Amino acid sequence: MNVAGMLEGKTAVVTGGTRGIGYEIVRVFVQAGAKVALFGSRQETVDRALEKIKEDCPGGSVMGLCPKLNVYDEVEAAMQQVKNEFGRIDILVNNAGISARDSIFEYDPKEFDRIMELNVNAVFYCVRAVAPIMKEQGGGSIINTSSMVSIYGQPAGCGYPASKFAVNGLTKSLARELGSSQIRVNAVAPGVTRTDMVASLPEEMVKRISAPIPLGRIGEPEEVANVCLFLASELASYVTGTVISVDGATIV
Ligand code: NAD
Repeated sequence: MNVAGMLEGKTAVVTGGTRGIGYEIVRVFVQAGAKVALFGSRQETVDRALEKIKEDCPGGSVMGLCPKLNVYDEVEAAMQQVKNEFGRIDILVNNAGISARDSIFEYDPKEFDRIMELNVNAVFYCVRAVAPIMKEQGGGSIINTSSMVSIYGQPAGCGYPASKFAVNGLTKSLARELGSSQIRVNAVAPGVTRTDMVASLPEEMVKRISAPIPLGRIGEPEEVANVCLFLASELASYVTGTVISVDGATIV
């Protein structure tokens, strides 16, 4: 698909941009003409992602940072660094996220906190740091990564769906609060998507997961990235406060 020019002149921050869905968002945004800052959890994975993006998108403008997303001062400093380097921040994709499927009977409360810190607090921290920059520029687009579990819940690991329900709440509330500053806030809610975790499953299991999905297969990271591209672009200029499912009509 030719997306060239869709994000020309725009600058984006993508958290968790080193692999999986986040890397695809970085790749698609760079192909669409954006300058992109990818955030990862470790310098070596950030460096590896920067090498890969150079091969996938020669000539693209990409920088990488690894602020601790659960420490507000680090997040704020990283956003300022991106602004200093690229001049502006038009798009923020809060993609970094972790999950666990522990039963409530064995759930370590520290694990619950760890999930909330990244999946919820870090989303708030990134928006808190970026919203004033976008407001001053006259607008922006914020995209949060939710999940289909934010609609259905899941039968174990209650922390993860709880965090994604919170992401939807932040999305809808911030859209109402930031609309007057011309900042749109939306979320994508992927179904099962072929990232590293799924790639390591036996093909038989992937078939079993795919069978009840009306489209008959799991999603590809690029399919989530394409919806983020739409939401980031001017094509979505009147779209805010919505959570878009990217799940092949999965019904659990
Ligand atoms: P992944 O595990 O492949 O990648 C996660 C990314 O987050 C990596 O870049 C990693 O560096 C980053 N990250 C992890 N911990 C971090 C931390 N403490 N600080 C900073 N960055 C950190 O994940 P994915 O499957 O691509 O998922 C991306 C997003 O999509 C997540 O929010 C996830 O909840 C959501 N999601 C994924 C699926 C799926 O099936 N893969 C389905 C629904 C929703």
